[in-house]
Amino acid sequence: MATTRRTHVCRIQNHSQVVDALDRHGWSASKLWNVANYYAREQWDETGEIPDEDELKTHSKYNGLHSQPSQNVLEELSEAFSSWYGSDDGRDNPPGYRKENYYDDHGNRVHEEHPRSTVTWKTNGIRHDDRHDRLRLSKGANHRDGRDFILCEYEAPPEVELETIQQVRAVWNSGKQRWELHVVCKHDITTESSGEKVAGVDLGICNPAVVAFPDDSLLYPDNRLRGDKHYFQREAYQTGGNHGPSRKAQWAREKLSRRKDHFLHALSKDTIERCVEHGVGTLVVGDPSGVDESDWGRHGNKRLDNWAYKRVMNLIDYKTREHGIEVEMPDERGTSSSCSVCGHEDDESRVERGLWKCDRCGVVVHGDVNGADNIRQETPTVTRPLGSEDSGDGCLAQPRVIQFDRTRGFQPREARTDIAKP
Ligand SMILES: [Zn+2]
Repeated sequence: MATTRRTHVCRIQNHSQVVDALDRHGWSASKLWNVANYYAREQWDETGEIPDEDELKTHSKYNGLHSQPSQNVLEELSEAFSSWYGSDDGRDNPPGYRKENYYDDHGNRVHEEHPRSTVTWKTNGIRHDDRHDRLRLSKGANHRDGRDFILCEYEAPPEVELETIQQVRAVWNSGKQRWELHVVCKHDITTESSGEKVAGVDLGICNPAVVAFPDDSLLYPDNRLRGDKHYFQREAYQTGGNHGPSRKAQWAREKLSRRKDHFLHALSKDTIERCVEHGVGTLVVGDPSGVDESDWGRHGNKRLDNWAYKRVMNLIDYKTREHGIEVEMPDERGTSSSCSVCGHEDDESRVERGLWKCDRCGVVVHGDVNGADNIRQETPTVTRPLGSEDSGDGCLAQPRVIQFDRTRGFQPREARTDIAKP
């Protein structure tokens, strides 16, 4: 499969805790650059040759040299020299020194300082804790005080999940006066979809996602999220003081939103993976914005709040594109009050105890699966099956249930296959 590298700029949440360590690394990267640059220029003048990376490592007198960030500085310098050396343009200058000059009112230089260079870590200097959105970046040997790593809590752009990290660069943003992490990830890309099939998704609260395939259906129950929500919300309310939220309340809110976000990430990822397995080329997701609140009551699955809906849609959109799956978002109106098997419309609530019971064809299906299957059929490429005789609705009536476990992600609860085993 083809892959591509993308760089995601992440905010550092615990900036005040890591700024000193990052400053020290940024300054020593500049210092090492200058030391090695001086040596390389000296060699150039004496021998007419530029030392390579290994020689720079051997000769640069610098005590933090064995650390990974330092080695990357020398690699960068070596590349800068070879591109200067290989350049046809005689006007090009060799790599310069990294320093920042400070001047007084009369333009006299009064002070010189190392600027904050970009610090680079590669895979073996990075530990990613994706459950807590943290990156452990190994420290240089000369900066080890207590911990031998810098623990950064990051916030990735909303639609991004950091996976297969190749490189992390700490970059000083002088406009914001903050460090940022530029995380390079490897992504698989497929330009063509894996299949031709169409799947429908119904998003909601009771069941965050119900997916209908032509021959199968999946149901994601909210087994994890509601318990968490209850706990963290209680925590947030009980500790809220008169003067705005307390630290603990703030903590509880952040924790809840992070968990919610992880859940939505895992949910969309699992959905897309199963679509790929099923050979899906088009994913149809119902857009609930046109549905009146008053109509919503008859829908078995309570409406997802706007924030969460948009979030899931962004994630799905982002992840499907990587697999070449097209996404359609038709209006969801009417999808919960008609039969997915025969098309019979029934304005009276037909969803009783979570089941859709059709007056015309007599089919009994899980209400949300019926909704998701109607959404699936909102796309012109799907022709609604006529009559119910051969419509094989058994799998629709009994969706596969996928349970979420925070450590292992989504796991199917395979009750039916267990029974079938001899
Ligand atoms: Zn029917």
